[in-house]
Amino acid sequence: MIDCTAIGKIIEKYDPTKLAIGTLGSHSSLNIFKGAKEEGFRTVCICKEKDAIIYQKYPIVDELITVKDFSELLNPNLQERLRKLNVILIPHGSFTAYLSTEQLTNNLEVPLMGNRRLLNWETNRKSQEIWLKQAGLRLPATFNSPDDIDRLTIAKLQGAKGGRGYFLANSPTGFYKKANEMINRGLLTKEDLEHVHLQEYALGVNVYPSYFSSILNNDVELLAMDRRYESAVDSIGKIPAQEQLEINIAPTYTVVGNFPIVLRESLLPEILQMGENVHKKAAEIAPPGIIGPFCLETVITDDLKIYTFEISARIVAGTNVGIGTSPYAYLRYGENMYMGRRIALELKEATKQKRLHEIVG
Ligand code: AMP
Ligand code: AMP
Repeated sequence: MIDCTAIGKIIEKYDPTKLAIGTLGSHSSLNIFKGAKEEGFRTVCICKEKDAIIYQKYPIVDELITVKDFSELLNPNLQERLRKLNVILIPHGSFTAYLSTEQLTNNLEVPLMGNRRLLNWETNRKSQEIWLKQAGLRLPATFNSPDDIDRLTIAKLQGAKGGRGYFLANSPTGFYKKANEMINRGLLTKEDLEHVHLQEYALGVNVYPSYFSSILNNDVELLAMDRRYESAVDSIGKIPAQEQLEINIAPTYTVVGNFPIVLRESLLPEILQMGENVHKKAAEIAPPGIIGPFCLETVITDDLKIYTFEISARIVAGTNVGIGTSPYAYLRYGENMYMGRRIALELKEATKQKRLHEIVG
């Protein structure tokens, strides 16, 4: 694993007056670049040729580096070029979707805003569960074996993208029947089944609060909230039950976009406390804890219980609904604050206070 000292040495060689903010051209890059520009940084985008149109239409990138594949980020020449440009990388969902945790922790010798040590906790379902439970959050129950299923359960595949191949089952018999159907339809293999994660299905609405953990101010801020727009699950209700049964739908959860949410105010104390507790626990398991953005993926049931089924210890694309402003960012900062800008603001402050080494690794 690349340690903090190695990254510290790279940072020492950087020109603090010429720092650039860089990221992969996807996911929440516009959010990140706009924020960076508004705080006076230069911006560097590593982008696939076919996506370059984004940055022609939204000209907020100073240096566009085109690649065939995002894995080229691991190329030493490209990394040298990034270091020459004084780049601090901001990790987002495409980093973990297209590169492995090992590659990110061992082969990326460019300063990254955030805590690399938390990556292992975040990408492993078991350790994630331990972290969130120890933080006092309410989690859906998990089952070790399909034979233990005694309530509505969601079966999740390891590393499934966008919930493709996820399925629901209400009993052991139901599970094996569904699993066989999915195998026959080519949606899943026998090997997949061995690594399936069985989680109680929390019946309620999805809420994704996004926080910013400031190491400089020793504070956790709630900055945005969204829900996802998922295909095909969000469209199933448009067809009558009779047809649903006839065509035998397996719901998939492919993200197409996000909606902003404003929460019932009486739920806010718990949501705020959850953010605090998760960061506090992270500071124990991987000091100094979460650096910068993170998001809890929750379901809120009709008795107003909040179940957390996942954490992302980085910016999530749901914060894009807040580009410009969101009610929660407005309440805290007034006009024109959002996750991408908050990231840049922290980097600017850290540079000013000569504490950059505390927030990059
Ligand atoms: P992409 O670069 O668009 O392929 O996305 C990379 C990863 O981030 C994938 O795992 C997506 O499921 C996830 N992702 C992308 N956009 C969003 C979004 N708007 N909301 C939630 N997740 C997203
Ligand atoms: P994930 O891949 O973990 O982000 O999950 C994809 C989608 O499945 C989420 O956006 C939720 O709509 C749904 N989901 C995941 N886990 C649960 C759960 N335990 N209870 C209810 N819905 C869930």
